[in-house]
Amino acid sequence: TSSPLDIPGATPMMAQYIEIKAANPDCLLFYRMGDFYELFFEDAEIASRALGIVLTKRGKHGGADIPMCGVPVERSDDYLHRLIALGHRVAVCQQTEDPAEAKKRGPKSVVRREVTRLVTPGTLTEDRLLDPARANLLLAIGRRKVSESREAYGLAAIDISTGRFSLSEVDGTELAASIARHEPREIVLSEAIHADPALARLWRDTSAAVVPLAAAELEPASAERRIREQFGVKTLDGFGSFSRAEIAAAGAALLYIERTQFGAKVPLSAPSREASGATLAIDAATRANLELTRTLSGERKGSLLDAIDRTVSAGGARLLAEHLAGPLTDLKKIGRRHDAVNFLVQDGSLRAHLRDALKAAPDLARALSRLGLGRAGPRDLAALRGGLDAALAIAEGLSGADLPEGIAHLVRRLDAADRALAAELGAALADDLPLNRRDGNFVRAGYHAEIDEARLLGQDSRKVVAALQARYAEATGCRTLRIKHNNVLGYYIEVPQAVGESCLKGLMKEFVHRQTMVDAMRFTSVELGELESKIAGASDRVLALEAQVFDALSQRVMAQADTIADIADALSALDVAASHAELAVELDWTRPRLDDSLAFAVEGGRHPVVEAALRKAGEAFIANACDLSGNEAGRIRLVTGPNMGGKSTFLRQNALVAVLAQMGAFVPARAAHLGVVDRLFSRVGAADDLARGHSTFMVEMVETAAILNQATRRSLVVLDEIGRGTATFDGLSIAWACLEHLHERNGCRALFATHFHELTALAKRLPRLDNATLKVAEHRGDVVFLHEVVPGVAERSYGLQVARLAGLPASVVARAGTILKGLESSERERPSRARIDDLPLFASLTEITPPPPEPVAPAPDDTLGELLDTIDPDSLTPREALDALYRLKAER
Ligand code: ADP
Repeated sequence: TSSPLDIPGATPMMAQYIEIKAANPDCLLFYRMGDFYELFFEDAEIASRALGIVLTKRGKHGGADIPMCGVPVERSDDYLHRLIALGHRVAVCQQTEDPAEAKKRGPKSVVRREVTRLVTPGTLTEDRLLDPARANLLLAIGRRKVSESREAYGLAAIDISTGRFSLSEVDGTELAASIARHEPREIVLSEAIHADPALARLWRDTSAAVVPLAAAELEPASAERRIREQFGVKTLDGFGSFSRAEIAAAGAALLYIERTQFGAKVPLSAPSREASGATLAIDAATRANLELTRTLSGERKGSLLDAIDRTVSAGGARLLAEHLAGPLTDLKKIGRRHDAVNFLVQDGSLRAHLRDALKAAPDLARALSRLGLGRAGPRDLAALRGGLDAALAIAEGLSGADLPEGIAHLVRRLDAADRALAAELGAALADDLPLNRRDGNFVRAGYHAEIDEARLLGQDSRKVVAALQARYAEATGCRTLRIKHNNVLGYYIEVPQAVGESCLKGLMKEFVHRQTMVDAMRFTSVELGELESKIAGASDRVLALEAQVFDALSQRVMAQADTIADIADALSALDVAASHAELAVELDWTRPRLDDSLAFAVEGGRHPVVEAALRKAGEAFIANACDLSGNEAGRIRLVTGPNMGGKSTFLRQNALVAVLAQMGAFVPARAAHLGVVDRLFSRVGAADDLARGHSTFMVEMVETAAILNQATRRSLVVLDEIGRGTATFDGLSIAWACLEHLHERNGCRALFATHFHELTALAKRLPRLDNATLKVAEHRGDVVFLHEVVPGVAERSYGLQVARLAGLPASVVARAGTILKGLESSERERPSRARIDDLPLFASLTEITPPPPEPVAPAPDDTLGELLDTIDPDSLTPREALDALYRLKAER
């Protein structure tokens, strides 16, 4: 509506605005005017709506009012934060010359302005825009052809806020899982990858901002050049060997950073390369379903991460989340992490000391990154000092202890902290620090002789002023004379109007009269003018000298950026190990035994999140064993039992044990022996998954297909009520066939919960399948869930008892009981239906006795039938269900 771009005759300022806006069409433009960032035209409309700030007008353009809104520069971080959270990108346009300069060019000329930074979700560095406990990743994706039909994808994950940079290559089938693992805030890719129809769903489903770049910008040669320039090397060989897809990804990421940071050099660690298969593959659906880092409703609270986080530092919290998102598969590395945890479990007082020291350590990584980007303030330097001090204190505290390698190698890294630098920062920085370096006053007294001198001059001047005031009062005989200061006059002399005649004479003779107020008169003197410039000069000089100190310290820090980044990592790793140890002691968790067998034996296993919730309510969690161990292939456990019995909890707790064990944590069990898992799959039948909207059954089948196609003997598969999303016979048949496939083809360890009791018959024919059920006690017709997993098959489904517990009216429950009896007796008279346990395994379709035909379409006069057709049980609320029942009864 209000696009200004094609209207001629703009004011000079508008012309400048329009030009800058045209160069940044996909951003909201924050246009600096004095103490405000102003937004105009459509930007103003969007921002005022998004931020709830007043939309006003400013002048006219092409005959129409120009919509405008503004945010104060001082508080702009908060507004930026909200706009970014809503998915907007913001171009920050600064005045890049002194307005006085512009005036010199002519009365009409506008101050020069330039965009100095694009603020996008994946390129943030300010603490106020960042979640301290979460990495803020920019993920770039490149790809290469492996063969005619196969493609590999390179992933470059960069967190500008900490300088982390990792590269990996994954197969096309694993792209989605890798993206899910990284939880990027922003994804950068080529237009070709973006437009690939096979991947469209990825970009649609992600919560990250997706930015396609033109192919012309992503030349392989320029990608390599960018990497070389970033790290100041002639060749990439020193980093190890990267695939073309990885280089393309890294190049795209660096290009995007260049474009958003406008030349500010971002300090990045050398790219670490992750071998494929180094982490436990967990796809997006499984992550969501197991609520690893967030719950199904998207919150951290209630997630596994929230339940296990005992870290005390921001870096530790981020690393814990990273470990949870990417558990390892390498036994040696996992063992090292467990060793470290074990050591800290054993030595409680050492753990307490360590955690105290870590608690005091500031966020080293993010401060370092801001320092590198030239966006740091004095408090970031103080964070560096605090971080180095903490590192040295911890290294010293642990020296001499008999450390396992898992901790010893971290301590060695801490010990690399430069003591001289820490001491220098300690000596240089004052105790109370301003937010901005231009506020000055952050250099400690006694650190820098010239600064002290200049400051003294400033203080002296105040003494000089006092002395002057006494002298002037004496000379004029006017004892009420005062020397004051304001921005217009500088230093001036003030006397009350009521001053005596003789005084006035003296005043007029000595000084220059400047103002007469209602109750006072003001004068200036040559002497005062000189003093003014001396004092102003002194404070300017202090500011300039402090800036020099800041730059010198920054340079010293940045010269050791790599070491310091490594120290930050080591501190975080210690925090994570201590967090696991704390948790293990607090909740009595045990060290799992891991090897490369196909074991999966958990004794006394618990679900950490459900248990925590029960504990709050004063209830106990019933621990359950689970054994899926096999030699050639894993076992499958088929779990039946009443709703609310604890099937889902049991399934998930075992999946979580695998995740926790492989991320390096202890596990919520009395004992656990696991053969390393390569992929973890967890799915819930569609009826639990209504939030997704589109055909849930279709989604369920797509995801089940992925499992059957990808699960290996090393995988762990957890399927909860698969097949529930469709008609009974369809669902049963699908669940049946899936079980057979898992058993015969995949050979994985699996847990399978179902309400299709017919499936339990399969245990007779599938040697590695066991039936298990959740124990229930009956007490005077009421059902009590014991939540205990026992071998065997559920005798009944207890659906009516559960319905009664849920508060369904007694009349309805009684009526349902009558109906059930009727159905059960007609079932007995029609025995052909339940013969499916006789079906031959993997029989061709023709051999299978078809299930009885579905009821034929109702005759036109069958109103009951028609009514029934309008009812979709899955989408009814209990209340609607009841109403429907009444309507059906009334029709009869
Ligand atoms: P199902 O999948 O069989 O319907 P859930 O696993 O959802 O049952 O469990 C239902 C509720 O029962 C849980 O919310 C929890 O409160 C309780 N519960 C489940 N397992 C246990 C357990 N092992 N010990 C104690 N309470 C449990």
